[in-house]
Amino acid sequence: MAEHESLEFGKADFVLLDNVSLEEFMANLKLRFEKGRIYTYIGEVVVSVNPYRAMNIYGRDTIEQYKGRELYERPPHLFAIADAAYKAMKRRNKDTCIVISGESGAGKTEASKYIMQYIAAITNPGQRAEVERVKNMLLKSNCVLEAFGNAKTNRNDNSSRFGKYMDINFDFKGDPIGGHINNYLLEKSRVIFQQEGERSFHSFYQLVKGGPDSLLRSLHVSKDPTAYNYIRVGGQVKSSINDTADFKAVADAMKVIGFTAEEIQTVYKILASILHLGNLRFGVDGDTTLIENPKVVELIGGLLATKEESVEKALLYRTVATGRDVIDKQHTAQEAGYGRDALAKAMYERMFCWIVGRINDVIEVKNYDAKVHGKNTVIGVLDIYGFEIFQNNSFEQFCINYCNEKLQQLFIQLVLTQEQEEYQREGIPWKHIDYFNNQVIVDLVELQHKGIFSVLDEACMNVGKVTDEVFLQGLNSKLAKYSVVGFIDKNKDTLFQDFKRLLYNSSNPVLKVMWPEGKLSITEVTKRPLTAATLFKNSMIALVENLACKEPYYVRCIKPNEVKSPLLFEQERCRHQVEYLGLLENVRVRRAGFANRQEYPRFLQRYKMISEFTWPNHDLRSDREAVKMLLQSCGLEHDVAYGKTKVFIRTPRTLFSLEEQRAEM
Ligand code: ATP
Ligand code: MG
Repeated sequence: MAEHESLEFGKADFVLLDNVSLEEFMANLKLRFEKGRIYTYIGEVVVSVNPYRAMNIYGRDTIEQYKGRELYERPPHLFAIADAAYKAMKRRNKDTCIVISGESGAGKTEASKYIMQYIAAITNPGQRAEVERVKNMLLKSNCVLEAFGNAKTNRNDNSSRFGKYMDINFDFKGDPIGGHINNYLLEKSRVIFQQEGERSFHSFYQLVKGGPDSLLRSLHVSKDPTAYNYIRVGGQVKSSINDTADFKAVADAMKVIGFTAEEIQTVYKILASILHLGNLRFGVDGDTTLIENPKVVELIGGLLATKEESVEKALLYRTVATGRDVIDKQHTAQEAGYGRDALAKAMYERMFCWIVGRINDVIEVKNYDAKVHGKNTVIGVLDIYGFEIFQNNSFEQFCINYCNEKLQQLFIQLVLTQEQEEYQREGIPWKHIDYFNNQVIVDLVELQHKGIFSVLDEACMNVGKVTDEVFLQGLNSKLAKYSVVGFIDKNKDTLFQDFKRLLYNSSNPVLKVMWPEGKLSITEVTKRPLTAATLFKNSMIALVENLACKEPYYVRCIKPNEVKSPLLFEQERCRHQVEYLGLLENVRVRRAGFANRQEYPRFLQRYKMISEFTWPNHDLRSDREAVKMLLQSCGLEHDVAYGKTKVFIRTPRTLFSLEEQRAEM
């Protein structure tokens, strides 16, 4: 409860609504947005509406206002949630996590950065050098990951095209001593193709537009993005992004993180090779498939530190083992084109994962002895790609949206379970509230044998025979809104072994380590690799398990309009999001239980001046008794329940009344 805010700005917590109806919820959300109050609580959940303008609410002074405060003492803010997660971690030695959800463009990534900045700002008062170093790395890693993992889409100019979960580790003093990043399924198809109006990953444009002349010359890359097939569409797209400035910022960040000059050069070489690959043309001459612009192969060979002939061979032939014989089978021009694209995507994805790995190398906690230093606790911050629907929705959208359903499921479970558990723990009876459980959707996707992923995997096992069409029939059009084109290929995610060996045999050691399985000879590779869908499903299940064992804090982001306007609150769009995020149910659950709960000492500290029994101090047996006495004397006892450590207040009115009486003192 933020007493600093007057009602002119609407209710700071949705549980304070007079009636919990969709109309009132929306009216409050709109009013607050229009008044520039972009954050509102539902109990301890922050609802955030993207302001689409710079807000003067993230500075040093604001940080100071939230530091160490309780949630209801200040206006709703991300900082308050970050502080709550931090305090819970520090005081109770609990691992916590902050889960940020909402559709594409709703403000998740921005929120995650503000949260990290807040945590960095309030920790390490002793200015320990090692802690400062770690904090700096954690903050800098965002810049690098966004360059390689974000892109302009039709929904968001800086859309995350990968999922990110970052653990920040703290020592017993509560200072950050390290971290770890888990990344989830990068949308690598973007490397070779973008829809109208979209771009490839920022990194390409940063290099082409921002790379110094000498660098571009050495890479044989021109300054014109439209010269490259893979980014041609995006090269024509106007954007608010300053690629030139970003190139420098990213290069600096990589240096600070500890990437060597050779490593950074290799990254540029990989980006350049991918651009060149996209310009390769295959043709036929009689029975022979050939490369029409062999000059490009020479460039690629040079950049990848492999022989030109090896590149050409890997592009045009495939080594196959037939019994004991090993033969070279020539690709058709179409197969060669497919192989080239697969190589480009795989190179980019490998590089991305390698970058994450290198960042982890430097931020991971080393030499921490819990016996000496006390328990090492964690705050996890989850920022994934938001739910999205485009003109064309393919395998990637299917995975992204499944991921969002999975997190919604976790929200449903935790928000309810947590309430339930707290009532139980505190010895207070609980009554069940109805809500839409999206478990059916999650099951539809992930159930063994019956789920969509299983059907897809089965289709992929039938080498050659099953096409996307057959798969679609198999699914009985369950995927009505997705286009199944490419599902099978993307799920199989095949990259010819020849490419893996090619890159493993590069004399560039940085490149070589990205392709360890290239070590295997053709006769050694037999095992069928897991499909993309199975890998993704497994990683999501592991993620949810990891989150479920931490104390969760939620930020629910809402995108107010489609046109990035700071003024426009599109009622229908917002209503839709409020509904599918289950926010109204959230309010109901919170209210049907108790709108507010406070530990006894804290409650007394705030309200003890109201009653003669408690002011200035009480002489009762316990704080619990004192709170009882206080509430009795105000005639508010009917509306509260006394738990073991906390007083539970059912209706907000009681809290108002207390606040009013306090103000009158
Ligand atoms: P995606 O799922 O596509 O990654 P997202 O939810 O991460 O989307 P963001 O990239 O965080 O969305 O936000 C989109 C844009 O909205 C930002 O680039 C920024 O312009 C604006 N924005 C978001 N949050 C804020 C904020 N708190 N203040 C000012 N602008 C914001
Ligand atoms: Mg994002």
